[in-house]
Formats: sequence, structure tokens, C-alpha cells
Amino acid sequence: MEKIVIIGSGCAGWTAAIYAARANLRPLVLTGAQPGGLLTTTTIVENYPGFPEGVDGYELMTRMQKQAERFGAQTRFATVEAVDFSRRPFRLTVDGEPLEAQAVIIATGASHRRLGLESEAKLETRGVTYCATCDGALPIFRNQPLVVVGGGDSACEEALYLTRFGSIVYLVHRRDALRASKIMADRALSHPKIKPVWNAVVADILDPEAGKVTGVRLRNVKTGAEETLPCAGVFIAIGHVPNTGLFRGQVKMDEAGYILPERGTMTSVPGVFVAGDCADRVYRQAVTAAGMGCAAAIDAERYLASIESAH
Ligand code: NAP
Repeated sequence: MEKIVIIGSGCAGWTAAIYAARANLRPLVLTGAQPGGLLTTTTIVENYPGFPEGVDGYELMTRMQKQAERFGAQTRFATVEAVDFSRRPFRLTVDGEPLEAQAVIIATGASHRRLGLESEAKLETRGVTYCATCDGALPIFRNQPLVVVGGGDSACEEALYLTRFGSIVYLVHRRDALRASKIMADRALSHPKIKPVWNAVVADILDPEAGKVTGVRLRNVKTGAEETLPCAGVFIAIGHVPNTGLFRGQVKMDEAGYILPERGTMTSVPGVFVAGDCADRVYRQAVTAAGMGCAAAIDAERYLASIESAH
């Protein structure tokens, strides 16, 4: 039986692992299908303290992992399929195998939100993507018009990155003002290759029949008018949804699926803690996830000490 199992290997998970490992608890980190989490799909992280020149997202996560392992954290590249928090020790099913734990830290993060179009699903990996850094350099996008959907920091970051490859980058946003921070918005809007398309939503992506992206059908939300914009790629950056489906019915969450901590980082189940984007619909920063990971490890350590002293 494990003392602490940490589900997830983003900023929150690795920071929890560093603290739990330094408390001699030998935490087991189950990485999930995307080791390192969403930060590994970004380029330079410019706002993580301690890196005045910025740091590559993948490198930051690898360093956190090394730091956790140096103090005794165990890493397993595995996916949790089910949990049962109604019994103690807690029971998890990991790649088909049962696993028991005295305490669990949920740090499963969030995933990219989808537009929900049939054509989007059909053309995923054929020109529709959720990650410019992963896919932007592909030959199909070189010197072609590209579309980024969204108005937040992610959309601006993706659009800026894509200016290296595309002939022009259309930033399609459903309102007439960006949600992004001022610095990112200014950078994007002042770039000669980025052209904003305001008050527009993607009604459809063309052309599933052709098996590739040839354009988007845009609808103006004010006038209802539709137009077709030719492009070779659609980069969707419209926010995130928490990865918490696995825990539905086990711990309390809000209507959008964000887990609700009750006391500190403890969830509605004593012994189960939560950290990072799966519990944060407000800040969603690498550094806030790391901070919450630290808090969850400290809370879990105190919980374990309290059940030990009760025996
Ligand atoms: P976000 O801030 O939630 O922005 C999502 C954007 O997508 C909004 O502009 C939203 O429009 C739009 N949107 C949502 N659903 C839509 C739909 N169904 N159809 C069309 N548009 C839709 O998400 P984010 O940009 O991923 O950023 C998440 C967090 O990470 C933020 O806190 C951000 O500051 C942070 N972040 C920071 C950096 C950086 O500092 N370099 C980079 C990336 C992310 P509305 O504006 O109308 O709601």
C-alpha cells in the first residue's frame, strides 16, 4: 500500500511530490497520458518566478520531476481508470491493476476546450489542432493562411507563435475586445502578420470531405452574416475544462466539474486532496498550481500524521 499517491504530473503534481518526498513519504506519482501536463505544450514560460529570461515549459516540468525524484518520489507512467474513495485505504485502478493508498492528491489539471463541431472532430490532426507549439511547424501550415480561435492569453500566444510559419494569422474572437492580458494583447494586435476578426464565431470547418482544412465558415454574431475564410489550419485556443470526470460522484465539485476543496486543499473526502487547474477556475497559472501542490502535500502530510497518532 502507498502512503501518498499523486494523480497527475503537471506543476501541481510535481510540486506536491517534491514536498511529500522531502517529508520522507515516498509519494507515487501517476503521470497520466500527458506527462508534464499542459505546460509541456507551451513554448517559453515568461512569468514563472526565478527565470528572468523565461524557461521552456517542457524543461521546467522535467526539472520539477528530477527534483521530486532526487528526494525519493516514485514515477509511474500510468493512467488511473477508476477510484473508490468510499473505503479505506482508498482504492484506485491503474492500467487495470488495483492500487491502495492512505492519502491521494488529485492534480489532474485541465484539457483544451473544444468548439463542439462535427467537422472539428473529423479534421482533428488533419489541420485542426489545440497546440500551435506542437503542430505549428508542420509542412501543411507553411506559408499558408492560418486561423486561431479565441481571445485569451493562449490565443494570443498561439497566434504570435504561428506568425513564424503562416503567411497570415487570423485571430477570430467572438467579441470585439480581447480577454488576454494587456502585454499579450498589445503584442498580438501590433504584429503585422496577425489580423483580428472581431465578433465572429466558427460555424463550420471545411472540408471534411477533402480530409483536410481548406477554410472556416465564420458567422458574425452581431449581424448573423456568414463568410468563408480560406485557411490551411485552425488552432483552437478557447480555454480549458477540468480533467475530473474520473472523480464524479466521489468528491464534491461545481457544475463545471472543478473540484471544490473544503478545508485548505482537502476535498469533501478526508484524506483526498486537490491541487492545480482541476480545482482552479480563476487563476490557472503555473505558479499558482505549484503553490497549491505544495499546500496539498503539507495538508496530506498532516492528515497522515493525524491518522497514525490515532492508531
Ligand atoms: P481564457 O482566458 O479562458 O480565454 C478563453 C477565450 O476563448 C476567451 O477569449 C473566450 O471568449 C473564448 N471562448 C471560450 N469559449 C468559446 C467558444 N465556445 N467559442 C469561441 N470562443 C470561446 O483561456 P486561456 O487563454 O487558455 O487562458 C487560461 C489561463 O492561462 C488564463 O489565466 C491566462 O492568463 C493563462 N495563460 C497565460 C499565458 C501567458 O501569460 N503567457 C499564456 C497562456 C495562458 P470571451 O473572452 O468572450 O469569454
